[in-house]
Amino acid sequence: MYQQKLIASPLQTITFEGHSFYLKRDDLLHPDFSGNKARKFYYFLTHDFPTVKKIVSYGSAQSNAMFSLSELAKMRGWEYEYYVDHIAEYLKENPHGNYQAALANGMILREQSAGSREQFGDDVLFIEEGGRQKESEYGIKILAEEIIAWQQEQGIEKLNIFLPSGTGTTALYLQKNCSLLTAHCSLKTKVFTTPCVGDREYLRKQFLELEADEQFHPTIFTLEKKHHFGKLYKDNYKIWLKLQQQTGVEFDLLYDPLGWRVLLEHIGLFESPVLYIHQGGVLGNKSMLPRYQRKFPSVSEE
Ligand SMILES: *Cc1c(COP(=O)(O)O)cnc(C)c1O
Repeated sequence: MYQQKLIASPLQTITFEGHSFYLKRDDLLHPDFSGNKARKFYYFLTHDFPTVKKIVSYGSAQSNAMFSLSELAKMRGWEYEYYVDHIAEYLKENPHGNYQAALANGMILREQSAGSREQFGDDVLFIEEGGRQKESEYGIKILAEEIIAWQQEQGIEKLNIFLPSGTGTTALYLQKNCSLLTAHCSLKTKVFTTPCVGDREYLRKQFLELEADEQFHPTIFTLEKKHHFGKLYKDNYKIWLKLQQQTGVEFDLLYDPLGWRVLLEHIGLFESPVLYIHQGGVLGNKSMLPRYQRKFPSVSEE
């Protein structure tokens, strides 16, 4: 069996806007294979796939999953083919961030539809967009074990966990496994999240596709106003800068700003400690940050 173990990610305390939080640093899991994509793809790193020669996946040309899969392919000695509907001209001419790093790892990019997994043979490991699949539970269960062991050690009876969602896969499997791990003890561990990609209904549907039993579903909080994924919001940029100034930690610019805005807006509802999960993705900031700086040139001085 292929052996490549990640060590547990560190945990620290931070103070933000006068509130104290625990912060689980999954962004520091490994220099090149980190964040929730590393948790989701851990199954494919540690299991035997005797027939597999190539990973095939699809999604956006900037995604964190695209890059993490290129690292996985490199570590396993597999080829890697990635399908995108469209690549912006600017990105093609000026490769940067996840796109550049994945190409440097040998990713073969195809600007066409990937089709479905049925059309590939058993030499191909087909991975759904963003790792939205059952195998993701394997690595997220290990994250749950790390958190519960720490919670026990600290003697925290009731712990609230907050993390922003895309597909909702991480939040769902985290709540499920925290509930299972604490089923026979007095500890309570509750997962809260917010949808960054679709709305509340979309996220609920995602949860249901992965887990029919709603007692394992995370609690969903949202802002009143509609939020569009990938759009540049001044409030997102502002809170990201504030986070950096007050905590010294670089968060991701796509998910974390909305995550923190939603968390702060609901902070009065939490009576016990809150643990925020840093899910990585900072390599993607290399493309998002210049866009923010161009759009809101005066914000950093405010
Ligand atoms: C992919 C990603 C998410 C969303 O994870 P899901 O499991 O799809 O909900 C959140 N934050 C970062 C930094 C990510 O890369």
